[in-house]
Amino acid sequence: MTSFIKNILEKDYFTKEDLISLLSANQKNARIIFEKARETKLKFVGNKVYFRGLIEFSNFCSKNCYYCGIRSDNKRYRRYHLSDEEVLEAANYAYKHNYSSIVIQSGEMRSQAFVTRIESLLKSIHEQTDKKLHITLSLGEQTEKTYRRWFEAGAHRYLLRIEVSNPELYRKLHPSDPKHDFLKRIEALKILRETGYQVGTGVMIGLPFQTIPDLADDLIFFRDFDIDMVGMGPYLEHEDTPLYQFRDLLMPQPERFRLSLKMIAILRILMKDINIAATTAMQTIDPRGREKAIMVGANVIMPNLTPLKYRNDYLLYENKPCIDENPETCNSCLEVRIAMAGDEIGYGEWGDSKHFKNKIDS
Ligand code: SAM
Ligand code: SF4
Repeated sequence: MTSFIKNILEKDYFTKEDLISLLSANQKNARIIFEKARETKLKFVGNKVYFRGLIEFSNFCSKNCYYCGIRSDNKRYRRYHLSDEEVLEAANYAYKHNYSSIVIQSGEMRSQAFVTRIESLLKSIHEQTDKKLHITLSLGEQTEKTYRRWFEAGAHRYLLRIEVSNPELYRKLHPSDPKHDFLKRIEALKILRETGYQVGTGVMIGLPFQTIPDLADDLIFFRDFDIDMVGMGPYLEHEDTPLYQFRDLLMPQPERFRLSLKMIAILRILMKDINIAATTAMQTIDPRGREKAIMVGANVIMPNLTPLKYRNDYLLYENKPCIDENPETCNSCLEVRIAMAGDEIGYGEWGDSKHFKNKIDS
């Protein structure tokens, strides 16, 4: 079996069957995959880990995804929008601490007021930081016009997870209405690409009804779409969501974690020069989850810069970590953790996707 896995890893092109074999590898063989992924990472993107200061701008959402704690039907949370001052303060913190990049994330809203507010915040952030920060948006599906307005106002990257690449599974995880349409999500990714963004997507791993062949298809989706960045991690249950009723179908969390590590490592080998995030969901299951993700191929981390008083209202899933850690504590903890993983923080560097740059240059 060991030489079977080694033979696959030597190939230039992985078939779906190859990916299924890699995803099914036992612990001993997983170590071989992890070593290959680490080697690939060092060779193609180096040992720098880039920070994206995460600003959870608002937990208002017009959608009702069955897995998400801030879905609109969940009345448990106090809904909030950050004020302009709070956003600018968080962006300024990132600027002063040489993070070089921020991510603005929120529930999905499409009102003109929301679109205009984001546009003017983008402009204000750039004015305040001498255009030194690169800005990623993660604000869901929007019209082409909106994506263009935000791009022109200075957004560089956009994260829109496909969540799962199997349309049938997608339908099981979302209400069947035009707001939650799989094809529209794919279309949105295409529009983002055409608009000029560095495009990121991702999936949840270990969902009820999800199979190993589904995950292999997710990896193929990233490759076929020629994606620039990926953020993926384990699905984590939330008791106030409809998907919670299927919790008995879930694999235990440590297994979901190991599968997520394998997904990251295989993706690094598959798409050598993209950016891959070590997500907070990894740390939720394992306190050293993000370092482990970094060791096997991830090269981006998103320290949370949302003001502490809002953190308890942006709980996508249960046991979300760092909800009471201020940025200073979080920073020093991350420095130690990243050094322990054998990497260093790329302070003062944008850390744009090399894959995106290579595409433009070629
Ligand atoms: N509303 C935007 C969207 O859906 O694209 C951006 C914010 S949304 C909260 C960001 C991501 O959180 C989603 O793409 C989803 O993958 C992830 N998420 C939501 N609920 C989750 C859960 N229960 N477990 C793990 N990840 C979850
Ligand atoms: Fe809203 Fe995003 Fe959560 Fe879906 S995943 S309910 S769009 S915040």
